[in-house]
Amino acid sequence: MTTADTTGTALRCILSPSIPYSPRDPARLTFEDYRDGVLGWNRAILARAITLIESNRSDHHEMAQELLNQLLPHTGRSIRIGVTGVPGVGKSALIEALGCRLTAEGHRVAVLSIDPSSVRSGGSLLGDKTRMVRLSADPNAFIRPSPSGLVLGGVGRKTRETMLICEAAGCDVVLIETVGVGQSEVSVASTTDFLLVLMLAGAGDELQGIKRGLLELADMIAITKADGENRSRANIAASKYAFAMHLLNSGEQTPVVTCSSLDGSGIDRIWRIIVEQTHERERSGVLKAQRSAQMVKWMWSLVDQQIHETLQQSDAIRRVAEEAERQVRIGALSAMLGAEAIVCALRYPEISGRGGAKKPAASSIEGRLDDRASP
Ligand code: GDP
Repeated sequence: MTTADTTGTALRCILSPSIPYSPRDPARLTFEDYRDGVLGWNRAILARAITLIESNRSDHHEMAQELLNQLLPHTGRSIRIGVTGVPGVGKSALIEALGCRLTAEGHRVAVLSIDPSSVRSGGSLLGDKTRMVRLSADPNAFIRPSPSGLVLGGVGRKTRETMLICEAAGCDVVLIETVGVGQSEVSVASTTDFLLVLMLAGAGDELQGIKRGLLELADMIAITKADGENRSRANIAASKYAFAMHLLNSGEQTPVVTCSSLDGSGIDRIWRIIVEQTHERERSGVLKAQRSAQMVKWMWSLVDQQIHETLQQSDAIRRVAEEAERQVRIGALSAMLGAEAIVCALRYPEISGRGGAKKPAASSIEGRLDDRASP
């Protein structure tokens, strides 16, 4: 097959997504295979493109960045929804119910599940059980666990890039699922257009122990498992949350609904509110401004990340950082001076490499480190 033939096949697949793109040699994907496979809704290639993005190998990194660059014009056309709540609240059941409803209507749905526990304990809050069985088998859905990055429960760089790749693959709904621990809801809110917070109807005071910050970020609260005997408790909980949200947002009302993934009640309403609010924000320009602000924030977080990576890549700088950390830990150096020593090492790597004394600021702080390095 010539290049023109290949491009022709890819284009046909893109224009007619019911025929997924197939590569010539599935064992060895070329750059074009990745690009056309993603655009042509080949889910196996989509999964491999995400693996490429997640890889830390430098040759993979280059190809992944070029891939993202070429796919960028095809991104941004989905509704990005964050779904958060404690383990057991019913996130996966709700995503499955909503996802299946959406694919039946002709939507293409991506679900990215961020599992925060893998960072700290190696255990899994999201992945242990068989989740979303029906949605996994749905040809118009794509489900993928996503690494949480350095921050506990946070949306890592890879999750954002994965979201963009899924959009390029034609997903018009992206659901990012995270367990509400640490700062996860903050980083999910800064990645998505709409944050859906799931709550259980409890027996006692509904609002005790709930993080105020979480309620402030919520675009909608859904009380889950509103079925059978739990229905009336869910309704009472919903009234309490609605009142609390009214006080918290000084009059502006955040929708509070009840739902059941078991009998399907409330799921339509949740989707209708998401669509209405997103369209309203689109019309008023709020959505565009929100996404632009998110991009700028993301850029700075990439700067932070790259500084961190530079720090890890140079032995000399890493040694300064480790020594600063050690001395700060035992109280021999203030955190401020420790930070200055590391930043100096980053700015003047030639000095940290040689322990030289060309730049006074760097050398003097390093001098302090050197003095205290050996007890
Ligand atoms: P997650 O940990 O937040 O993803 O929660 P799951 O979706 O795995 O649900 C936890 C448990 O609650 C499971 O045993 C579900 O069967 C059950 N569950 C989830 N949604 C509902 C619901 O709407 N009604 C009832 N009665 N049980 C539900």
